[in-house]
Amino acid sequence: MAGSELIGKEEAKEVMDILETGVFMRYGFDEERKGVFKVKEFEKAFADYLGIGYTLGVTSGSSALKVALTAMDVGPGDEVIAPAFDFIATYEAILEVGAIPVMGDLDDSLNLDPDDIESKITPYTKCVIPVHMCGAAARIDKIIEVAKKHNLLVLEDNAQACGGTYHGKKLGTFADMGILSFDYYKTMTTGEGGMVLTNSKDLYDRSDWYHDHGHDHNPNVGRGDEGRSILGFNFRMNEFQGAVGLAQLRKLDYIIKEQGRNKAVLKDALGDISAVGFRKLFDPDGDTATFLGFNLPDEETTKRFQKLLGAKGVNTIYFRDNAWHYVPRWEHLIARATANSMKFPFTNPMYKGKVEYRVEDIPHAEDIMSRTLFMIIPVKMSEEARAKALVGIKEAAKEL
Ligand SMILES: *Cc1c(COP(=O)(O)O)cnc(C)c1O
Repeated sequence: MAGSELIGKEEAKEVMDILETGVFMRYGFDEERKGVFKVKEFEKAFADYLGIGYTLGVTSGSSALKVALTAMDVGPGDEVIAPAFDFIATYEAILEVGAIPVMGDLDDSLNLDPDDIESKITPYTKCVIPVHMCGAAARIDKIIEVAKKHNLLVLEDNAQACGGTYHGKKLGTFADMGILSFDYYKTMTTGEGGMVLTNSKDLYDRSDWYHDHGHDHNPNVGRGDEGRSILGFNFRMNEFQGAVGLAQLRKLDYIIKEQGRNKAVLKDALGDISAVGFRKLFDPDGDTATFLGFNLPDEETTKRFQKLLGAKGVNTIYFRDNAWHYVPRWEHLIARATANSMKFPFTNPMYKGKVEYRVEDIPHAEDIMSRTLFMIIPVKMSEEARAKALVGIKEAAKEL
């Protein structure tokens, strides 16, 4: 549960600054706010932390995806490749902009396999969204290489590995654009919240305008007199989110370090079991350690081991059967049941492709997902909790 475990007086102090001025909105009210700009400060701090040119706070990770896709002009008629193992928000965001999600296969890191991308490209493909699932990096360098070869845009969904790196560079900063999520489950939280990342002034400007009704945010005029060149919508982050985010960002490296310590202890215990292998990490040093992924030889053994562990009080997640993280489980997506009765954008005549969501197209995902378990790694783990988990793993292994 990460950052949500550490809410304390640091967050309270930042929020008090807002309550004292009474200005909860990030824009306007120049006199009343007395120089307090929490969202702006949060964006600046994050740009420095990541080493990226532009950061834009928004209402959620989902809206960050929608804003970024809109800024890159991904829309009706386009296909976007995303991994078969993913949180559903990525697929929803693609549909929200009127494009069609295409399911990509996984490699042994359980992230999008760069070597499978070419087999999913059609004349309609416009963008690829690699997702750094469960705390650890996809082979983002290879994915970008394949995408560039085919003139595709890349949007890095880093909702799940905030603060992680790949060969020393921060995740979310590799591609044309990136996003972060700060919802309550994520590595650091603002309750709800997200961020759009880019090094492109043009993509930043388009994101900035779109997320606030087209406002050009001209610093020399009042809000009512600002110019606009496109229509937009409202995905503005508020000052409370910025305030909490500032305090949480200062704790991010500590969160990752403590999770790493706890993960190492559990990994050692599981490593003693001969049937257990581990999720492949292409850069273990960059892992944020939010999850420990491990595999067993086959589906039957995996499900049996999950039961044995559960009986000893050690909880794991079998994401293949989970309702929200594996595309073949999304019966509503497969039925094209979008929120409008016309089933747009699937039925949009501008879309000339023929997308299918068939397990035959993701053979490696089917295999690796069917025999992988994940443990959630906490930031805070008492001696007692640690001892209990170690005993539980040992006892479950005896019955395997
Ligand atoms: C959580 C998540 C999102 C969406 O973030 P919200 O802030 O919850 O809207 C997007 N993509 C992935 C991979 C996520 O895990």
